[in-house]
Amino acid sequence: MNKRTFIGLFGTVIAGPVLSRLSAWASENKLKNWAGNLEYSTDRLYSANSLEQVRNYVKKRSQLKVLGTRHCFNNIADSTHSLLSLKSMDEVIALDPAAHTVTVNAGMTYGQLCPYLHSKGFALHNLASLPHIAIAGACSTATHGSGEKNGNLATAVSALEIVTAAGDVVKLSRQQDGEAFRGTVVGLGALGVITKVTLDIQPTFMMRQYVYEDLPLAAVKDHFDAIEASSYSVSLFTDWQNQRFSEVWIKSRDEAGKAFDAIPEFFGAKRATKNLHPIAELSAENCTEQMGVPGPWFERLPHFRMGFTPSAGKELQSEYFVPRQHAVEAILAIERLRDQISPHLLISEIRAIAADNLWLSPCYKQPSVTIHFTWKQDWPAVRALLPIIERELAPFNPRPHWGKLFTISPAQLKTSYEKLPEFLQLAKKLDPQGKFRNAFLNSNLFGS
Ligand SMILES: Cc1cc2nc3c(=O)[nH]c(=O)nc-3n(C[C@H](O)[C@H](O)[C@H](O)COP(=O)(O)OP(=O)(O)OC[C@H]3O[C@@H](n4cnc5c(N)ncnc54)[C@H](O)[C@@H]3O)c2cc1C
Repeated sequence: MNKRTFIGLFGTVIAGPVLSRLSAWASENKLKNWAGNLEYSTDRLYSANSLEQVRNYVKKRSQLKVLGTRHCFNNIADSTHSLLSLKSMDEVIALDPAAHTVTVNAGMTYGQLCPYLHSKGFALHNLASLPHIAIAGACSTATHGSGEKNGNLATAVSALEIVTAAGDVVKLSRQQDGEAFRGTVVGLGALGVITKVTLDIQPTFMMRQYVYEDLPLAAVKDHFDAIEASSYSVSLFTDWQNQRFSEVWIKSRDEAGKAFDAIPEFFGAKRATKNLHPIAELSAENCTEQMGVPGPWFERLPHFRMGFTPSAGKELQSEYFVPRQHAVEAILAIERLRDQISPHLLISEIRAIAADNLWLSPCYKQPSVTIHFTWKQDWPAVRALLPIIERELAPFNPRPHWGKLFTISPAQLKTSYEKLPEFLQLAKKLDPQGKFRNAFLNSNLFGS
């Protein structure tokens, strides 16, 4: 079954209310994540269409997990009991131009929201590499884009509505709930079912995207800060071969005083003469427009276009956040592993992200740089390689992306999050029996 067929089936099936129909389907086609590397441990997938349905469902279950758009590569969303989808709860609830916020039902994806916002004259501050992901799922795992002044996507959340383990509806806002709010936004699905999300918005803006080829590693070493500061969003792609970064993606706001000066040569890299895919061998058809063609923010901030397969498709991903001040040392440490990494790699990406104050965000109080790996789909090889990468990055106390593959030990992970004890208290309050826990959370956070 190809990915398009699978997503079609998934969409049809979860909209149906009848469990038996789903079971019949699932026995032939096991429910998997987007990349197909993870088969969920249950095929009991339910769809909720309203807050009341979510509440009733949660009250009746002893264990469950919410499934977003299934884009995580690890088992963070897995359940051995039952999965709940909010995919059909995908409407905009309210746009408040005066408060500069939009409130949406939690099943909505960025791909659905962004054109609507733009049509009303508004924008989000940033997006991930793809718009296909659910807003609630992305924020729950601290999904990020790029730009040293841009916080991750969860930093745009200003209020949440959550159904707790008891089936109660709790509303939390940045303005009124301080620390409890900051603990909840990046909740890893451990605190309850997010049913509504309110996001900060700003006036819509146009952007231009430029790609440069063959940035020398020496330029990154000597001018990393200037490269990162050169535009609103900067991504460096490399296969770690030949001491160079194959592509630099620069996304610039098309505004007076903020526009990037698209000089032919950028720190030794040459401006590309056609649209490119980050994996040079793949067609750029799936990618957002480049070559400085102006377009709205939501058609330039992601690398990949809605309606097309993002990235490579058959792949695995890992990503590590390191403190910004150690960026160059960390990059050089990985570059030394090039001969071990290259046979298994499709592409790596380096991005900068601003610090935030969300308890379980990998950027908590730490301006960060991420070192990302898109791997060929060979888990035994990647699993053998990750501890080697993690050992090289250990001096910089790397924090793994919550939704990607890593082998950092739970003990190590726990030392990386100073607010983890408070988070565990919060989880105990909202979910005393551990209804929303699973193997990933038990092993990595709850220690059982
Ligand atoms: C091709 C590709 C490109 C990517 N690019 C980026 C990138 O640029 N930057 C980046 O940071 N990450 C990126 N990712 C990772 C991705 O953004 C995250 O894995 C994100 O969590 C995906 O959201 P989801 O809804 O699909 O997650 P799922 O795997 O469905 O769920 C993730 C977690 O959120 C929880 N959850 C989902 N919905 C709810 C809800 N309503 N209430 C409570 N909990 C909920 C789940 O229980 C689970 O714990 C990429 C992934 C892929 C496949």
